[in-house]
Amino acid sequence: MKIATTRAELQTFLRKARTRKASVGFVPTMGFLHRGHARLIRQARRENDVVVVSVFVNPLQFGPSEDYACYPRDCVRDRAICARSGASVLFWPKESAFLSRARVKQIRVTEFRNTLCAPFRPGHFDGVATIVLHFFELIRPDRAYFGLKDYQQYRVIEWLNQTHLGGRIRLCGVDTVRGKSGLALSSRNRYLTKAGKRLAPMLYRALQAACRRLRAGAAPSAAVRDSVGRLERSGFSVQYFEVADALTMKPSRRARRGSGGRIVAAAVFLGETRLIDNVLV
Ligand code: AMP
Repeated sequence: MKIATTRAELQTFLRKARTRKASVGFVPTMGFLHRGHARLIRQARRENDVVVVSVFVNPLQFGPSEDYACYPRDCVRDRAICARSGASVLFWPKESAFLSRARVKQIRVTEFRNTLCAPFRPGHFDGVATIVLHFFELIRPDRAYFGLKDYQQYRVIEWLNQTHLGGRIRLCGVDTVRGKSGLALSSRNRYLTKAGKRLAPMLYRALQAACRRLRAGAAPSAAVRDSVGRLERSGFSVQYFEVADALTMKPSRRARRGSGGRIVAAAVFLGETRLIDNVLV
């Protein structure tokens, strides 16, 4: 596996790949990798000749009171996981140079602005889209891989691909990888206290319970009420717990029997740690 820290190094690598008509898969990450990231990289490996993994903690997607400064980092382990999972090149751009170039074309995401995470994290998806578009334009991948744990982010990237790249990139959404307890793996799980680690798996169970009620024909408000109550009583602070249309991402208000077309998504705090998760109905 090659390590590239500058655009020039990466471009030299990709130019060689393109002359032999290699297909390119791209997996953007913020590092502190775990089995969730590894699944994306492995899938990219199976579907492409060359796999680029980026590790970049993107300051543009953090709010002023969020955890940018203390976001966990572990270069040695990231490198090992990338190599083991089949990355061809690990792109580790130097922050300031990369950022100043990316900033030239700031993106404003005009879809999904008033739903789920967006109102609680103003500017977050604009920051994600700005950096991802910069990566896309630099790497010009055939396919790019994103986790469905960050479902709204995935939809934003679809929007970005359509509006700014004419749908040129094939986007691949990858199912959420969970621990045995059901807790979705996340770099931020490392912030959880011992007690938080014991409680955190409740989030997935609460989402599943709401999903079962919806499938049985409950109205969305009734389907989530019990789950929210249980979480709050157990010490979670619930930022949102919503049933949304999986395409428009707008809150879904009416009862509908059976599955398909909706998600239940939540953001909760355990102490200072913010967790998000979702299930498809
Ligand atoms: P991050 O490093 O948190 O920005 O995540 C990089 C990519 O990995 C994003 O597309 C995430 O959605 C994806 N990802 C993070 N956690 C998981 C997980 N538990 N399962 C699957 N994909 C994940």
